Amino acid sequence: MELIFERSREGRGCSVLPECDVPVVLPEGLCRDQELHLPQVSETDISRHYTALAGQTYGVNDGFYPLGSCTMKYNPKIDEETAAFPGFTEIHPLQPVHTVQGCLGVLAKAEELLCEITGMDGMSFQPAAGAHGEFTGLLLIKAYHESRNDSKRTKILVPDSAHGTNPASASMAGFTIVNVPSAPDGGVDLEALKAAVGEDTAGLMLTNPNTVGLFDRNILKITEIVHGAGGLCYYDGANLNAVMGVARPGDMGFDVVHLNLHKTFAAPHGGGGPGSGPCGCKDFLIPFLPGPRVNRTADGYAMERLETSVGSVKAFYGNFAVVVKSLTYILMLGREGITEASQNAVLNANYMMHGLMDLYEMAFPGICMHEFVMDLAKLKHETGASALDVAKTLLDYGIHPPTMYFPLIVHEALMIEPTETESRETLDHVIDIFRQVYKRAKEEGEALHQSPTKTPIGRPDEVQAARKPVIRYAFAGEE
Ligand SMILES: *Cc1c(COP(=O)(O)O)cnc(C)c1O
Repeated sequence: MELIFERSREGRGCSVLPECDVPVVLPEGLCRDQELHLPQVSETDISRHYTALAGQTYGVNDGFYPLGSCTMKYNPKIDEETAAFPGFTEIHPLQPVHTVQGCLGVLAKAEELLCEITGMDGMSFQPAAGAHGEFTGLLLIKAYHESRNDSKRTKILVPDSAHGTNPASASMAGFTIVNVPSAPDGGVDLEALKAAVGEDTAGLMLTNPNTVGLFDRNILKITEIVHGAGGLCYYDGANLNAVMGVARPGDMGFDVVHLNLHKTFAAPHGGGGPGSGPCGCKDFLIPFLPGPRVNRTADGYAMERLETSVGSVKAFYGNFAVVVKSLTYILMLGREGITEASQNAVLNANYMMHGLMDLYEMAFPGICMHEFVMDLAKLKHETGASALDVAKTLLDYGIHPPTMYFPLIVHEALMIEPTETESRETLDHVIDIFRQVYKRAKEEGEALHQSPTKTPIGRPDEVQAARKPVIRYAFAGEE
């Protein structure tokens, strides 16, 4: 499609600005030496341009979006409505505390409910995303060991199935990473874990269910081994959608968690963000949580900054509107609804897995949690069509592909997370599409390298697009 600059016509426009009535005095040398190339377009042009752009995006409001590990569930519209209440939007973070009691009440209620769901005792809403919550949680672990003058604990254990943000956050927090291999059943290898822990262990980072969609049945043994060695246990809450209302990380032995409100708790994700990755912890770590924290007092809510806090990880209270959306979601679902959401997420994943497992090879057959991983190595070997080719072909059928090539322990991985918000009809339709694509891979094999053919662009050079993105329009005669 035409870019907004290409729609531009000299002299056209739609702004109605008053004449400037103050003298413009800019110091010599600070003025542009070239005209500013603003697009000159009519309101009709602008409106059509952005409507056309919107038509080229794909989100959960358009269709199925099974991006494994990312929990792309439907975002209820009522969440947007409450987040837009003027009492939540027309405020300033520096206004006196007695004038924003309702907003502090939202933070206090969200903290209470999310602590109940996770089995934690306190939570900070400052972190802006999951990875940011991880970093914050690791700072708590670091502060805890430092408070005990235990300076030799410099290592964080991370299983080889972990999300890439886990080792990245641990490294940013100043730790060295020790990789713990998975056992053949997809869980943590207990013997390898026992061999890896020691006096230098600061903690372990784990998600349960893990990134292959399996609940680690040894979880109590795992957290006991780490605690036995003097380390703490960090729960990556990105997969909480499988177990909320059913099992709590606090009861599994975890000391610190992060949640992804933009995954599990139905706030918009990615381009629809911003996100929120609250960091929760057990009692003994609360003194280290980033501030300011909301406290209930005899005359309402107060803000408190703890002396021992690791400091602020974001301005003020984090992405407050996201918390309003997620609190709305939790209150709308209620105690039973929260549990049912997880149960349906698990049911939907198993339904899809069973609809595909006679064709596609599953990395870990058997009952899965809220997502499952297919291994396309055999298909690629037999036909030349890879996980990438299958994912790209799905685009021609109008659905979003699943997560590809993650987790790293499965080489031709497609990771599918349908979420609880898809109906049986949608799942049947999508199963049918995956089956058709499989048959095409068998019949056409390497021809699928050309997919997709029905989208505005086919296969961009993804490395160049990431390393050398073209994000500025170049006018004739410019670089
Ligand atoms: C999404 C995800 C993260 C990171 O969360 P962001 O909000 O994207 O920063 C961490 N771990 C797992 C398992 C995830 O799926």
